[in-house]
Amino acid sequence: MIRLFDSLRGEVRELELREPGRLSMYSCGPTVYDLPHIGHGRQTLVWDVARRWFTFRGLDVHFVSNITDIDDNIINRAEREGTSEEEVATRFESEWWRAMTSIGAAMPDDTPHATQWVEQMVELITDFLERDVAYVTSDGVYFDVSRVADYGSLAGQPLESLRSGARVEANDEKRSALDFALWKNAKPGEPAWPAPFGDGRPGWHTECVVMSLGLLGDDFDLHVGGLDLKFPHHENERAQAVAADRPFARHWAHHGWVMVGNEKMSKSLGNFTSLTDLLERTDARAYRLLVLRSHYRSPIEVTPATIADAERALARLDALARRFALPALAGVKLERSTDFTWSTSALAVFERVALALDDDLDTPNAVAALFETLATANAMADRGDEAGAAELAQALNALFGAMGLALHSSDDDVDQASAELRGQRDLARAAKDWSEADRIRDELVALGWVVEDGPDGTLIRRP
Ligand SMILES: [Zn+2]
Repeated sequence: MIRLFDSLRGEVRELELREPGRLSMYSCGPTVYDLPHIGHGRQTLVWDVARRWFTFRGLDVHFVSNITDIDDNIINRAEREGTSEEEVATRFESEWWRAMTSIGAAMPDDTPHATQWVEQMVELITDFLERDVAYVTSDGVYFDVSRVADYGSLAGQPLESLRSGARVEANDEKRSALDFALWKNAKPGEPAWPAPFGDGRPGWHTECVVMSLGLLGDDFDLHVGGLDLKFPHHENERAQAVAADRPFARHWAHHGWVMVGNEKMSKSLGNFTSLTDLLERTDARAYRLLVLRSHYRSPIEVTPATIADAERALARLDALARRFALPALAGVKLERSTDFTWSTSALAVFERVALALDDDLDTPNAVAALFETLATANAMADRGDEAGAAELAQALNALFGAMGLALHSSDDDVDQASAELRGQRDLARAAKDWSEADRIRDELVALGWVVEDGPDGTLIRRP
């Protein structure tokens, strides 16, 4: 049984699927007008891990994540750069997938583009206008939130209190400050699609409700996104589904923020400015491990210090992979039943990890259990129980693989000569020949490596 915190009900509860064995899942994707930032990386990693774990548990997962390829930011950038909206969207969409592939995220099963679904959006808005759920103003069409009795369910506040907190807007044609744009009329020179209520473009909230229901069908299982999208974006998606009389997501899950401490995010302070920047400076797997070590609903800090800490932990895992010559496993279709023969001791590790991950994706506890397993495996091998140690190491490898983290038993960036020196230094240390170990350390440093003594042997990395 998989349990997940449901943001709508405010409690951890069993994932009750529309169809046993199949899970339909929608994640709000990017608006493609700039490079992905570190928060986007966390979002993608959190739901990539969830998707992989559900698959590993035997569910047939259908994962949809959209691309918003038309909006004000795209229009503004195109104007600033003297290019077309299409060019901006295409360029930054390819940047997006390049970065997401680099962090080891599997591609969604479907990636609907807003501009390909405008007809269906126009149909929905036409229906709302006919039933007076929406109204026309001089700049577009708005949704009347007072027509949805339980508006505010995701925000956890009734309409009245949301209304008193809403900022007053310049547009006095709106019936309420909470009413939101379903359609924006095109200004001269802007891209526009035909509609009976005026040529223009769809509002963001309308895109997601139309594409999620269009591809996953009524009553799909799980809608995910960042906490910052819960209100008003997800509230407004849901309001439209309610107004259209279509059962919407059975479960809502939201992940937490990325923090950069009290420091302003800037390159001069050594912080990372974009995901691309981060990936140029670290092993992408270190970011995945950092994400795994925090609960998805908690905020995480991404700083040079937390990344360096994750890099050290990753080096310990890779050292184990070298010791036991483990294969790299991280296929999205990795399944428990097919890829690995589970011995009794391996099953015990699996059960601890499954207990954690099935309980609201508790990745920090799963990772802690696996690092205990690492220590046990090394200790067993040190005592000469190679076979017992290898069983544990293989279980660890399979379970990290189930979370999308592939261990490397050979490191591509470490050249042959340096790898040999590292091995000689480990032998020298094991023989307690400290002067020889120091001599080899100096040799590695002269080759440009940072040398550290890990609990499982010598670690080398570029500064
Ligand atoms: Zn959305």
